[in-house]
Amino acid sequence: MHQKVTIEPFRIKVVEQIRLTSDEERRNFLKKADYNLFLLHSDEVIIDLLTDSGTSAMSAEQWGGIMRGDESYAGARSWLRMEAEIKNLTGYPYILPTHQGRAAEHLLYSRIGGPGKVFISNTHFDTTRANIEFSGATAVDIPIAAALHPEAYHPFKGNLDIEKLEALIRLHGADKVGAVILTVTNNTGGGQPVSLANARAISKATKAHGIRFILDACRIAENAYFIKQREEGYQDMSYREIAQEMFALADGCIMSAKKDGLVNMGGFLALNDHELAVQCRTVLIITEGYSTYGGLSGRDMEAIAIGLQEVFEPDYLEYRIKSTAYLGQHLRNIGVPLIWPAGGHAIYVDAKAFYPHIPVEEFPGQALACELYLKAGIRSCEIGSVMFGKNNEQGQLIPAAMELVRLAIPRRVYTQSHIDYVVEAFRELVQERERVHGYRIAYEPPFLRHFTARFQPVVH
Ligand SMILES: *Cc1c(COP(=O)(O)O)cnc(C)c1O
Repeated sequence: MHQKVTIEPFRIKVVEQIRLTSDEERRNFLKKADYNLFLLHSDEVIIDLLTDSGTSAMSAEQWGGIMRGDESYAGARSWLRMEAEIKNLTGYPYILPTHQGRAAEHLLYSRIGGPGKVFISNTHFDTTRANIEFSGATAVDIPIAAALHPEAYHPFKGNLDIEKLEALIRLHGADKVGAVILTVTNNTGGGQPVSLANARAISKATKAHGIRFILDACRIAENAYFIKQREEGYQDMSYREIAQEMFALADGCIMSAKKDGLVNMGGFLALNDHELAVQCRTVLIITEGYSTYGGLSGRDMEAIAIGLQEVFEPDYLEYRIKSTAYLGQHLRNIGVPLIWPAGGHAIYVDAKAFYPHIPVEEFPGQALACELYLKAGIRSCEIGSVMFGKNNEQGQLIPAAMELVRLAIPRRVYTQSHIDYVVEAFRELVQERERVHGYRIAYEPPFLRHFTARFQPVVH
């Protein structure tokens, strides 16, 4: 058959009720949440695109594994299975389980960070940056130039700028560079993929200077899909083999299993360096748990071991990436400005272009996220100056490079009709652009302000 529609390669066995709310209810819920979507209750949301993190639907195999989970304190069967799976996938000999990705980041960056150290990345994810800055070190993002042009086509828009990398190493001196961190796919940069050629160039540069090269591998399976489709020379390799080739270029990785691990909780740190692994393991035992569970239940580890296999299945990856592109293509067709081409796990709407009349000081991304909720109960996430903006000494905003709203797609959760509903909501938002106003921040904490900030509508 000549198949045009990409069908979900699974049947639904268990369902979870969605509460359908009214316009008026949503107005009240949003006001009560001080216009911060993180402060909404999930029952107040119809379609939750806040994040793809920990929101995956697990398979029958994984639920079966949950029952087999071995809850022994030390040396559990489930740990041995997870460890073997990760060793086999990554090729790294030292595996440290953690309750999620940021815990792995804390273990690593609290050891290799500190004042005077510089970390260089295509783009640091927010928790990565926070862990690095919290250690006293500096985090520098050097995506390629194309990454800053939302509509410009580039097959690997997540790539790191190699010339800038060389220049930064010269500027700071190799001994000051804590690590080069390659985020695949580049979450903050639009979920855009990184090529193997780019990873290879980074590997060469870091090896030449004796600098550590770390992969932030949260979405390495999705990244492998793009490599197989777009990069010359990988068409005959499996997705897993492509991922393995990328792991082999680096000295270690951190992974939030809440993404391509297809589980609701979990993560790990994997390293080549024995000495560093021993240091990190000490902190692991103090802060997370013993080294054969690190804050995870046996059942969680069982589910991770299975999820890391399922995520590389060709039918799954094909459906995953094509269904994200489906949302991107349909939004683009109705004139919604977005980062193009579509990334792996999310669509990133360019809120600055969508609401050109709202100044960045009034957070156009926050305005769009609020409108989308009010219109249709869809929860999205601002990735712009609320998340990454800073205030200078005069209290003026130093804006983020882009004002984006991320529509992250949970894995194996929503069907095509849910996504069609999102497109329908945008069709109305496009008509009503002019009347929308911005927001100001009424309260913000010192770190990761987007999680708990409180907003007020700006009324002119
Ligand atoms: C989610 C994520 C992390 C942090 O992982 P958590 O499990 O949320 O702590 C780090 N890096 C990237 C790229 C991520 O997407």
